[in-house]
Amino acid sequence: MRGPIGGPRLLLRRLREVMAEPISPQERLDKIVVHIAANMVAEVCSVYVLRADGRLELFATEGLNREAVHLTTMRKGEGLVGLIAETAEPLALADAQHHPSFSYRPETGEEIYSSFLGVPILRGGNTLGVLVVQNRVRRLYSEEEVEALQTTAMLLAEMVASGELQAIGLLDTEIPLHRPLALRGVPIAEGVGLGHVVLHEPRVVVKQLVAEDVKTETERLDAAIDAVRETIDQLIERGDVGPGEHREVLEAFRMFAYDRGWIRRLREAVATGLTAEAAVERVQSDARAKLQRQTDPYMRERLHDLDDLTNRLLYQLAGRSFVTAHEDLPENAIIVARTMGPAALLDYDRTKLRGLVLEDAGASSHVAIVARALGIATVGEVSDIVAFVEPGDAVIVDGTSGDVHVRPPPDIEHAYAEKARLRAKRQEQYHKLRDKPAVTRDGVPIELHMNAGLLVDLPHVEETGAVSIGLFRTELQFMIVSQFPNMRQQQAFYKAAFEAVPGKPITFRTLDIGSDKVLPYMTKVEEENPALGWRAIRIGLDRPALLRMQLRALLRAGAGRELRIMFPMIATVAEFEKAKAFAEREVAYLTRHDHRLPSDLKLGAMVEVPALLWQLEEICTRADFLSVGTNDLVQYLFAADRDNKRVSSRFDPLSTPVLRALKIVVEKAAKAGTPLTLCGEMGSKPVEALALMAIGYRSLSMSPAAIGPVKAMILATDLGAAARYVNELVEGRDGAHSLRDALIRYAGAHRIPV
Ligand code: PEP
Ligand code: MG
Repeated sequence: MRGPIGGPRLLLRRLREVMAEPISPQERLDKIVVHIAANMVAEVCSVYVLRADGRLELFATEGLNREAVHLTTMRKGEGLVGLIAETAEPLALADAQHHPSFSYRPETGEEIYSSFLGVPILRGGNTLGVLVVQNRVRRLYSEEEVEALQTTAMLLAEMVASGELQAIGLLDTEIPLHRPLALRGVPIAEGVGLGHVVLHEPRVVVKQLVAEDVKTETERLDAAIDAVRETIDQLIERGDVGPGEHREVLEAFRMFAYDRGWIRRLREAVATGLTAEAAVERVQSDARAKLQRQTDPYMRERLHDLDDLTNRLLYQLAGRSFVTAHEDLPENAIIVARTMGPAALLDYDRTKLRGLVLEDAGASSHVAIVARALGIATVGEVSDIVAFVEPGDAVIVDGTSGDVHVRPPPDIEHAYAEKARLRAKRQEQYHKLRDKPAVTRDGVPIELHMNAGLLVDLPHVEETGAVSIGLFRTELQFMIVSQFPNMRQQQAFYKAAFEAVPGKPITFRTLDIGSDKVLPYMTKVEEENPALGWRAIRIGLDRPALLRMQLRALLRAGAGRELRIMFPMIATVAEFEKAKAFAEREVAYLTRHDHRLPSDLKLGAMVEVPALLWQLEEICTRADFLSVGTNDLVQYLFAADRDNKRVSSRFDPLSTPVLRALKIVVEKAAKAGTPLTLCGEMGSKPVEALALMAIGYRSLSMSPAAIGPVKAMILATDLGAAARYVNELVEGRDGAHSLRDALIRYAGAHRIPV
């Protein structure tokens, strides 16, 4: 096998010199192709750059007809060059002209060249162009040569990504990395955010690509791999898994970290003359290109693992610890992350946050709850966004539609700026509704309460005019601290909550943990079906010390006030009775010890397990109030995991089965005279809220941002007429599943804003 003359290291050194020369970008490219051709003993070396319009343009050549530069273009997938761009894989051919993809371009004069070696110019797995060498004689390029050309392509990738080529080439030549990108995810928190990308876990930017000395670099690489392996091993052994670091993920890391193929590729890349950092990036870029084309979700998940591992390795090489960087947050920051826990989001300076984009995380994840509490426009499930953006890129987040525009063209930006202005105007109108009672046109009052869970939520009560906090998710506070709060800390927190909303009642829900709501400091119990597992009141009843501590803290914080407590995930009457007995014991204890008690204590049950639908008479006689949790009730009714994006939106909550079930609750509660509220997300959407009112709900608890729009809907509704319409649909036998379209049409015809 014949290797490149002087090897790739010599070539890299030459190219580095060329990079440093004070010459124009075109001259630089022209020199680069000459050097590559000479080093690879090739008659031809050409660089094609991918333009914003998706065409590959010949930017420089040694050996082909120079007149063709900036003239010859081809589509992705067209010809051999197009094929490489499309597959993002190298292609080596001894007899190129007989390859089925060969496309003859007379202007280039390439008909005399038999052999062809082309590699993609990759950055972060994205193809930015193609680098080609050709030879007259038929020859097979060695693996070493392919490697060398790939390494060289990395240098070109930096040059393309730097934007310096923008000045040359055809008019309007834009580099794809700088190209506008429209992505679509799942809307998580309403609002429009315009700003600039901040990566939650910033990538280490590799500046030094070419190494001085291969031996030193190999040693640095080996040391870094060892250190990363050790950290991962330790994390697994200690079982000390931090938030967001699940054991399986770490096991996957470990698998990669010990993968011989991966280590070999890293070492080979260093042997070609790259620095250890550049080698890590180069190997990752190849892996990314390959894995990105996988449709298998398992394989794509492995891509995330590899990305994380790469990042750890780069941090290690840079001598930095693997932590989230929050410093220097720009004004108008849009945070982009793969995943994020609720605590991490709260670490950011809220006044500068305009938006949040996540690759994973659905609408009912906990980071979503915090994002909504903070009022930050958020979109989730945006595949691969982290790979597509660079820190500082302009980005627009539309948390209402789920659209994300990266590097938006001016017309989109104007449209959104306008939208943001309109939204601000609408908010102002909602704000004006604040003191208006929520009464339908035909005089039916509807109580609007607010859902909360953090102290940052509470000022919204004043802004929105909510009657009370209808659901206070106490677990959120537990989830965002690093240790289990003791009784005094809990008491102080609940007291602060009361003080933040003077004169308004709060319905505290006891800890609803388990399933996806894991406390970072509690050992995670491995379960086959966590959503059907040991969670919420089940944990409370099995670990009475926890439940009693919380009840005591609540009772003490509520001294002299009205205190409302409800228990989550009640499946049987007996469970409620047990929970109630714990509360009564705490009352007796505090009385014995001369503590002041709440002036009024109400104990309620959440209706979110379908079994309770057939025990309503019994629960109504024992509970002071009921609150329907539609998020869980709907997931259990349809047996469709609310956090699994494959099924979470498969069934419509606005459907006959759900509305029929909810109607039974209203009827039974009314008959028993038990106060009833609905606190699931359903009540937060005007169309759904309209249906809920129509089937009899008179009290809804919702996210703060929803109160204005829902109130506007209420004020415009003739409930008597809407109830007749909806109930007929609900009881109808036409087999329709979703009532959404019909309801939207009804609202439109009756000028009800939904
Ligand atoms: C619900 O299940 O509808 C609910 C309000 O509780 P959470 O979303 O916290 O499970
Ligand atoms: Mg629930």
